[in-house]
Amino acid sequence: MIPVIDPAELDRLLSAAVANFVARRPKTAAMHERAKAVMPGGNTRTVLFSQPFPIRVAKAEGCRLTDVDGHEYVDYVGEYSAGIYGHSHPKITAAVQSATGQGLNMGAQHEQEVTFAEAVTSRFALERVRFTNSGTEANMMALAAARNFTGKPAIMPMEGGYHGGTLYFTHGASPVNAPFECVMGKYNDVEATRKLITDNAQRLAVVILEPMLGGGGCIPASMEFLGMLSEECGKLGIVLIFDEVMTSRLHPGGLAAKTDVTPDLKTLGKYIGGGMSFGAFGGRAEIMDQFDPSRPKALPHAGTFNNNTLTMMAGYVGITEVFTPEACVALNERGEALKARLNTMFMKHQARMQVTGVGSLLTLHPIGGNIRSAEDAAKADGRLKRLIYFHLLDEGIYLAERGFMALSLILAGQEFDALEASLARFIAKYRAFV
Ligand SMILES: *Cc1c(COP(=O)(O)O)cnc(C)c1O
Repeated sequence: MIPVIDPAELDRLLSAAVANFVARRPKTAAMHERAKAVMPGGNTRTVLFSQPFPIRVAKAEGCRLTDVDGHEYVDYVGEYSAGIYGHSHPKITAAVQSATGQGLNMGAQHEQEVTFAEAVTSRFALERVRFTNSGTEANMMALAAARNFTGKPAIMPMEGGYHGGTLYFTHGASPVNAPFECVMGKYNDVEATRKLITDNAQRLAVVILEPMLGGGGCIPASMEFLGMLSEECGKLGIVLIFDEVMTSRLHPGGLAAKTDVTPDLKTLGKYIGGGMSFGAFGGRAEIMDQFDPSRPKALPHAGTFNNNTLTMMAGYVGITEVFTPEACVALNERGEALKARLNTMFMKHQARMQVTGVGSLLTLHPIGGNIRSAEDAAKADGRLKRLIYFHLLDEGIYLAERGFMALSLILAGQEFDALEASLARFIAKYRAFV
C-alpha cells in the first residue's frame, strides 16, 4: 500500500539536506563566491554544477576524493567514465613523466602517435583512426566525414542522446548545438525510427547513437534496434556511427563488438587518453581516407594538440598495460555484480528504485518500471535524485546528482559494501517516498 504523504514534506526534507550540506562546507561556500566573480556561476564545465554549489575537491588519490573542507568521499563519478584508472595510477604517472622527459610540444610527427594508433585500431577494430582533443571534436569530425562521403546534409541523433557540448540532445536540441539539419530518432523504438529513416533517406547522411545511452541514463539499446539501424543504413546509403566515447570500456573491443552490428565509424574518448585530453574517430578506410592530406581535395582536420605526446604515451600505457582486455572483462563483471546486488536490495525493501546500465557504467534511478528511453528515465522526481545525492555525500560517497556511476578499476568490495549500506539507510530514512 502506498502511504498518503504530504507532497510538501519532500520539499521540506530536501531543504534540510541542503542546509546541512551548506553548513558543513564553509570553505567550499567561500570558494564558490570567489569563483562566481570570474566564471559564470563559478563554473567552467556545466555537468559539474549542482545547486546550491558543487563540492570542490582539494585532493584525489586512488578512489578517494578530499574536498576543501576536509570531507572524504569514495569516488563513484570516475570523471564521468574518463577516470577508469583511479587517481594517479603509478603506470600512468610514469608514462606522463616519460612524455615530459621526451618533449611535449614537438610541432612534428613522432613515433608514439603511430604506436598508439596501432593499439587503438587493433583493439577497437578500426581500419583507420584520427585523434582529436575531445569526444565532442571526434563526433563533429565523424559527422562531417559522413556528410561529405554521402553528399547528403542531415544527421539523425536520438532523442535523449549526448555526443558532446555542441551535440546535445538531452532536453531537446541545445541552443549552442552545431547547426546541423536534424531528424530526431527515437531510441529503442524500432518501427518509429525505421519510418523516420526511410521517410528521410534522401537527405539523411548519417545516424549517430551510443549503443548504450550513457549520460542519458545508462540505457542499453536493444539488439533489435541496432539491427534495424544497421539494415536500413546499409540499404539506404546512410553512414552509421556508434559513439563509443563512454561505451568502449564495456567490452574489450568496445560495446559494438558485443553486438552483431558493425558501424561504419566509431568515436572514442574519455579514458582512452589515460586521463589526458583525448578523442578519436575511425572506422572504414573509404570514409576515413577522405582526410588523407596527400589526396587532391582532402578534407582538412586540424588540432594543435591532436598528437600531443602526453596523451599518446599515457593513453598507450593505459589501454595496453592497465586496462587490458582481461582487466576490462573483470571490471565489467564487478559492475554487473554490483548492479544485481543493489537491485536485489531494492526489491527486498520494495523500494521504487533501480540501477540500469551495463558492466562498469551504471545509473541509479529513483523510479519503478521499465526504462527503455531517456523519456522513461525523466519520469523520476528530480527532488528524490537530489535527496539521494546529499544523503550519499553526507555518508562519504560521491555520485553524480543524476545518479550516474562510472566504476574505476580500484573500486571494489569495501566500497561496494559501503554504497549498498548507505542506500539501505536512505530507504529506511525516506521510506515514504520510495
Ligand atoms: C563525454 C562524451 C562526449 C564528449 O566528450 P568530451 O571529451 O567531453 O568532449 C561525447 N559523447 C559521449 C557519449 C560522451 O559521454
